[in-house]
Amino acid sequence: DPLLVQGLQADRRVEFIHASLLELDGCLRAIDSGLIVRYGVPRVCIPALAKALEVDAVWANRDDEPSAIARDRSVEEALRADGCLFFSFYDHLILPAHEVLTALGKPFSVFTPYKNAWLRRLTPAHLAARVVNINAGQLAPVPISLDQAIPSLAQMGFEATQLLNPAGMSGAKKLLSDFVDRMDRYHIQRDYPGVRGVSYLSVHLRFGTISIRTLARLAHERMLVGDAGASTWLSELIWRDFYFMILHYHPRLAEGEAFKPIYDAIAWEQGEHAQTLFHAWCAGRTGYPLVDAAMCQLNQTGFMHNRLRMLVASFLIKDLGIDWRWGERYFAQQLNDFDFSANNGGWQWAASSGCDAQPYFRIFNPVTQSEKYDAQGKFIRRYVPVLAALPDKWIHTPWCAPSEVLQSCAITLGENYPYPLVAHQMAREQTLARYAVVKGK
Ligand code: FAD
Repeated sequence: DPLLVQGLQADRRVEFIHASLLELDGCLRAIDSGLIVRYGVPRVCIPALAKALEVDAVWANRDDEPSAIARDRSVEEALRADGCLFFSFYDHLILPAHEVLTALGKPFSVFTPYKNAWLRRLTPAHLAARVVNINAGQLAPVPISLDQAIPSLAQMGFEATQLLNPAGMSGAKKLLSDFVDRMDRYHIQRDYPGVRGVSYLSVHLRFGTISIRTLARLAHERMLVGDAGASTWLSELIWRDFYFMILHYHPRLAEGEAFKPIYDAIAWEQGEHAQTLFHAWCAGRTGYPLVDAAMCQLNQTGFMHNRLRMLVASFLIKDLGIDWRWGERYFAQQLNDFDFSANNGGWQWAASSGCDAQPYFRIFNPVTQSEKYDAQGKFIRRYVPVLAALPDKWIHTPWCAPSEVLQSCAITLGENYPYPLVAHQMAREQTLARYAVVKGK
């Protein structure tokens, strides 16, 4: 019985869903309806509820992740065994996977031609809102016999964390209205984690508290009148469709395989040494300030800026020599917006093993990335406060700072801030040697 889970665990995503459901229920109650929320095994709960409500059919939205497909199939089978129909629809993508194919009817594996075909395929119907205004009395009230309070977090075995994201449709609306006025500068500001340049809407897209069509429509309208920021932002939304499409046609990715199989021949670091490096990376204690600040942002908030996701992924794989799957798994545990397709796509992009990935010999330098994207260390100072007093000149390389500077800033390397875990140049050469097995392939 999931309501009797022993020992509480914390998960920001469960809390986000919970808060969003409470809000939706409140909105529906205001128009004399409401939600019936069940916590349990879908293939048991949903048919049981369908029976109790005496419905002829269940309608749901589709998810392309193999585990979700298997879940929905088991629900459908159980419903059909009871004589109940099941219908599912695409809602979470702008263009479903099968709608954007090459001239030969094959899936794309490179983004730019996919995006061009996507834009040609797009019609106003793909962007049209599917929600109508519903007034009081138009929805069925919740039958009294089934009208139970939404289970609390504690009843489900979860403890409250500090939810930093505004949840629910109201939270999404707030973030969108904040972003709308900045969208025209997105292409200029989106790479700087210390600047409020991105939308922060990913968790809402993940859990459906905002419609992807609302966002795509807005970006597309603005793109058509020459707004460069909107055009770049629309491209990001298309990347989301792209990675869903890739997973749809390559479900083997969910088994942990590299998109390009030859990359599975790479020998990663192993054993205790690898574990030590990995744990330091997870904890934000690599000695590279921007990498550490990024990991602290993830651990503290469940969010990480896209530029930093690319940087820390590259660092784990190409500076520490750790299998990208370890990082992928850690992100899956920590990210509020965790989405298998985008996460796997991002990790395989950084590992160079993915479709349309960066070439294996492209290795981010963690110092120059830091100097370029967080020049004054604004972001570093926020998430690694022990370095806050360092002058700009040393904020990216505290190990190069003169001892009197470190002393005056109360920094003792090896004690309250680590020495660099690896020397980048040496790590770079080791990586090139490690990746030699894929050279020219
Ligand atoms: P914005 O810059 O405002 O972009 C708007 C939306 O476009 C995002 O909310 C997201 O839905 C979509 N988007 C943007 N970039 C990408 C991208 N590269 N791939 C797919 N969709 C994109 N995104 C996730 O939603 N879930 C993940 O689990 C995830 N894991 C990632 C792992 C790695 C290693 C990398 C490099 C990227 C990952 N991303 C993931 C993509 C991207 O980093 C986030 O979508 C973005 O940072 C979310 O912030 P935002 O909503 O402010 O994005």
